[in-house]
Amino acid sequence: MAESFIRFDKVTKDYGTVRVVEDLDLDIARGEFVSLLGPSGSGKTTLLMMLAGFETVTKGAIILDGQRLNGVPTYKRDMGVVFQNYALFPHMNIARNVAFPLEMRGTAKSDIAARVKRALDMVQLGHLSDRMPGQLSGGQQQRVALARSLVFEPRVVLMDEPLGALDKQLREQMQLDIRELHHRLGLTIIFVTHDQDEALTMSDRIAVFDKGQIQQCATPRQVYDHPANRFVAEFIGETNLLPGKVTGVDGSKIALTMPDGSVLRADGATGLAVGDAALLSLRPERIDLHGPNDAPAGLNSLRGEVADTIYQGDHLRIVVTTPAGRIIARVPRKAAEWPNGASVALGFRPADGWIIAP
Ligand code: ADP
Ligand code: MG
Repeated sequence: MAESFIRFDKVTKDYGTVRVVEDLDLDIARGEFVSLLGPSGSGKTTLLMMLAGFETVTKGAIILDGQRLNGVPTYKRDMGVVFQNYALFPHMNIARNVAFPLEMRGTAKSDIAARVKRALDMVQLGHLSDRMPGQLSGGQQQRVALARSLVFEPRVVLMDEPLGALDKQLREQMQLDIRELHHRLGLTIIFVTHDQDEALTMSDRIAVFDKGQIQQCATPRQVYDHPANRFVAEFIGETNLLPGKVTGVDGSKIALTMPDGSVLRADGATGLAVGDAALLSLRPERIDLHGPNDAPAGLNSLRGEVADTIYQGDHLRIVVTTPAGRIIARVPRKAAEWPNGASVALGFRPADGWIIAP
């Protein structure tokens, strides 16, 4: 990884006797887009608040560009912040709202107008600078909040569920807008969300949170294809988890023997040894359905019986009962269909399964 621009070094946060962030390490490179993803209450906002200086650190240190931040007041940290409900000042027009951080910093009057215009043009709202916030839609207001967080060219932009209040269509459009701004301006962005699709869409890396700890921090591809543990496998996307026993390990290639004695082969997390109990994580879309004796050679094959077929418009979800448990496969709408009760073989490539500790 590139040199660390922001470093969380064994950061712990206690509220009274309750520990909400525990011994957390995280390095973020300059220009990186990192999402903090996790269930409600897992400590994401608290981590952001400590970085912004709105909360103190109980133990450990936060370092920005080589400077230890503990004790540095918020206004000296030079960070842009956008929150889910970060209201604009209702009595100021859009241009004045965006000018506010510059006025606070004593920017020369002659510069302010030009910088406000540039920031508003960036979020495609230059033509609305005279309007009042109440005259803008929710999405437009959130874009103004974004412009306000960027206008003073902060070293870091922190966003805490900034799109949470928007409807799905607008949210998806703003995701692409922010992604584009990030690329164009080379910003360092830390983005909190509990929405896995949002994190997958936007991030260079995703830090998956649970109970105040990072379970895994890696690229969207890595966390989805190679989850570090069960929590990550279940939190990101949908997966089938099939219990078995490790009966062979050759580097990252693992053989897993299922309860019915069949053997499945897949890559897996390091640290598993022969004799260990383990789980095969198998994504529904990585599974093909075949006739009971038709699974192509070289694929893993699991026999089962079709229990249900659910039409979902662009794909079919097929529920199959197998000796290893109930498995959901997601197949293209045009794939062959089987009646309930039909015997089938589920096929998947070893590279499409992933074995983890239970
Ligand atoms: P997230 O953003 O992941 O939903 P938070 O960081 O907001 O989680 O909260 C983590 C935990 O810390 C929660 O259990 C929350 O109730 C608790 N918490 C947050 N802020 C405070 C506070 N000011 N005082 C006491 N507990 C708090
Ligand atoms: Mg939060």
